[in-house]
Amino acid sequence: MRYQGPIYRPPSEADSLLVQATVGCPHNKCSFCMTYKRGPRFRVRPVAEIVEDLAEARRELGPGVRTLFLPAGDSLAMPTEELARVCARAGDMFPQLERITVYAGVKSILGHGPEGLRRLREAGLMRLHVGLESGHDPTLLRAKKGVTSAQQIQAGRMALEAGLELSLYVMLGLAGPDDSLAHAEATARVVGDINQAGEPVLRLRTLLPKINTLLLHQINKGRFTLCTPHQVLSEAGAIIAALSGPLSLHSDHYTNYLDLAGRLPEDRERLLGQIEAARKLPRSAFRADFVGAQ
Ligand code: SF4
Repeated sequence: MRYQGPIYRPPSEADSLLVQATVGCPHNKCSFCMTYKRGPRFRVRPVAEIVEDLAEARRELGPGVRTLFLPAGDSLAMPTEELARVCARAGDMFPQLERITVYAGVKSILGHGPEGLRRLREAGLMRLHVGLESGHDPTLLRAKKGVTSAQQIQAGRMALEAGLELSLYVMLGLAGPDDSLAHAEATARVVGDINQAGEPVLRLRTLLPKINTLLLHQINKGRFTLCTPHQVLSEAGAIIAALSGPLSLHSDHYTNYLDLAGRLPEDRERLLGQIEAARKLPRSAFRADFVGAQ
């Protein structure tokens, strides 16, 4: 199996076969992200190469593979027909395949359009992992995310209407203390608007300043202040309180101060109770900030 550059996958794809469809990230500008800052440059792998890797996996693992994830940072940036051919060939080689998933940028979703997304769904693509990070436009701008909240809503709804499953990643603490509540409220509004077209899964992450990032540079120059754990917990509470659902929520990640899992609206009071209890704990009960430690 051939891999180039950093290979990441969501925790929910821990048991999936990983076959690389693209290299790097076509955006590669987010202020908090170190993943591809030192390369490699973004490119789409030729379909023939990807199919060769699928065939190698078929020889080594047999036909029983059930889940397939296609790294790297935004494999939905592939042209529709090329990605559809990869998904269809994977389905032929692994007849028990239940799920093909990718990381997907908002602009890539919009680029395929409703017809292209339906074509991909029919070819076997099932789930998109989308890093929203925030629905607050000033925060999106500062984080250099390269999209607006209006584009996020349009893309999220388009994906759900095409029959694709959607995991939405939100980054707590990304706005810093001053815009913390505005970040939470605007993010809940975006997720809520997407939620009107179907049921996404909301996955919470917490900002952790990484090496080789603009955000770490801003912290070191005194231009960005980290939220405290208690402020981050308040953001999580504000998002959960504002969402009507139905949706599932997870915070299955080491960056988070509190592990939250449940469904909205059913589990809202329990989740808010967990957050309130955590907010009464001292700072020493939570992980360190790990500024530039990773
Ligand atoms: S967060 Fe995602 S979109 Fe942004 S630079 Fe990193 S891989 Fe690319």
